[in-house]
Parts: sequence; C-alpha cells; structure tokens
Amino acid sequence: VEARARTIGAAAVHTADGISVSVQANCGSVADAQAAMAAGADGCGLLRTEFLFLGRAAAPDIGEQRATYRAIFEALPERPITVRLLDVGGDKPAPYLSLPAEENPALGLRGIRVALSRPEILEAQLSAILGLPVPGPLRIMVPMVASAHEMAAVRAVLDRLRGDTAVALGAMVETPAAAIGADLIAAEADFLSIGSNDLTQYALAADRGNAAVAAMLDGLHPGVLRLIAETCTRAGSTPVSVCGGLAADPMAAPILIGLGVRTLSVPPAQVALTKALVTTLTVTAAASHARQALACASAAEVRALARRFAEELS
Ligand code: PEP
Ligand code: MG
Repeated sequence: VEARARTIGAAAVHTADGISVSVQANCGSVADAQAAMAAGADGCGLLRTEFLFLGRAAAPDIGEQRATYRAIFEALPERPITVRLLDVGGDKPAPYLSLPAEENPALGLRGIRVALSRPEILEAQLSAILGLPVPGPLRIMVPMVASAHEMAAVRAVLDRLRGDTAVALGAMVETPAAAIGADLIAAEADFLSIGSNDLTQYALAADRGNAAVAAMLDGLHPGVLRLIAETCTRAGSTPVSVCGGLAADPMAAPILIGLGVRTLSVPPAQVALTKALVTTLTVTAAASHARQALACASAAEVRALARRFAEELS
C-alpha cells in the first residue's frame, strides 16, 4: 500500500471490484488547501471555517471572510468543496460572541445552534460564500445537527440568499439522534457527512477533550459502528461521507466502505495512503468484513479483526 501511495497522485481511485471512492481532504487554512491539492485530493470534504473565527477579539466581516474563502477556493480549482458552517461552542470557544457560560458546553449552544440563535452570523457567512465565483461543485455543510427542522431552517436562509448559485446542502451526522434519524435528516439534506469525532464522543458519553476517558474513545467501538451502519441504511439514496478521524484510520476505512460510504475526507497527509488502500479492497469483501465488525463486542475485538483483514490484503 505504501509503494502504491507514492505513485497514485491525483488519479481517481476505485476499489478492486470497480466501485469508485472519492478521497477528499479536510482543510482548515489556505496552506491545508494547497497541501490537499499537492496530495492529489479529489476535493475538500470538510473546510473547517472556524479557523477564521477563533482566537481573535472580533468576528471577521463579510469582506474578510470572502477573501479567505476565495484564496481557499482558488487553491482547489475544479474540485468539489464542502464548506462547513461555523462550528464554535463546546470545545471551540469564540469569546467575542459572548455566548453564555455553560456548565456542560459539549451539550450546550454549539455548532448550528449558535448560528440559528444568531441569524446575523449565518447570513454573513452564507453571503460571504455565495458571493464568490464557484470553481467547482459547492457544498455547504451544517455541523451538530440533531433534528431535521434545523436543516429546514438553514435551507430557508440559503434559498433566500443564493440567487441562482447551485449549492448542495448537507448535514453532519455527529449526534446519535442524527444517525438513528438519518432518514428524517436526509429528507431535508442533499448529502450526509459523518463527523466521527463528535459522534464517538456522544455515542460513548466520553468527552473528547478529557484524558481520563481518552482510552475508551474509539470510533471502532461497535456501538459507534452500528450508528454509522444505521446512518448508511436510513440515508437511502442520499450520499453518505465520513469526514471525522475514523476516515483516516486504515483499520476503519475498509469497514466504512463496506457499510456503504463512498467518500472519505482525511487530513491532506493521509490522502495518498487512503487512496492506495481503496484500490486494494473489494466492496464485497469489505461488506462482509463490516458485518463481522458489527457483531464484535468491543473496539479491541474490532481492531483485532481489522488487523487480520489488513494482513490478508497485503
Ligand atoms: C467530527 O466531529 O468528526 C468533525 C469532523 O468535526 P470536528 O472534529 O471539527 O468537531
Ligand atoms: Mg465535530
């Protein structure tokens, strides 16, 4: 796989049985977008726009936002770009928003809840994005969705602002409610993208920032995998991607593909290896591997199974 990764470049990849899998990059800066392009990414599957909002005294205005998005778009010509709407709150504080102090911020005002409680933030961000020439397919993604009506609320603002710009609107699946209710969310979304970092935190009730529970925080826990399987099944014909850390884990990617995921978004440095890994699998074998993983009793058992699967591939 390592040898293949060195030569794969920007080529589109498919599995050994001919199913195409898009390997995109997670970006949080212009430098990441350049690295994604250099690594041969098929697009940006997660643009973390909060990098523009954190660690500063005042919110960026529309002009500043637009200039930054423009630089990122220009670094990824003709590639699909998935812009995630501002995801602050929880473990990502933005002091100038003066959000109320919370006893339990991970369960508080975060992600799309912030934007829906401050419509001017959502409108400014959407206006900044929509005012730009679009270099490839544009997708906008909503973080921390728990209910379908949140998607409908964002869609209403988007439709008011977008003019004739074609834009797909997707929901991140980061809460167990969104996973179990993926059919309801999909009815209001053009695509779903699983944020496995938060989905794992909420499924296992283990704070992703707390070292005392870090050892239990494994996205290959069968409880998390069952939520991902449920998401893929309930999504029906709505495409499902994974943009959390699980997508970049070589032990996890075959299981995700076996469950029906066809887009993986990983850090730029993992793009080539992930593409190479895809070419070594068949969807048929990955699907039967995934079924076995869902029947395991622990993350450790899934990891042992995944190691055996990887050995058989090489
Ligand atoms: C996730 O939760 O998996 C995700 C991609 O978002 P973030 O890590 O930025 O919360
Ligand atoms: Mg998240």
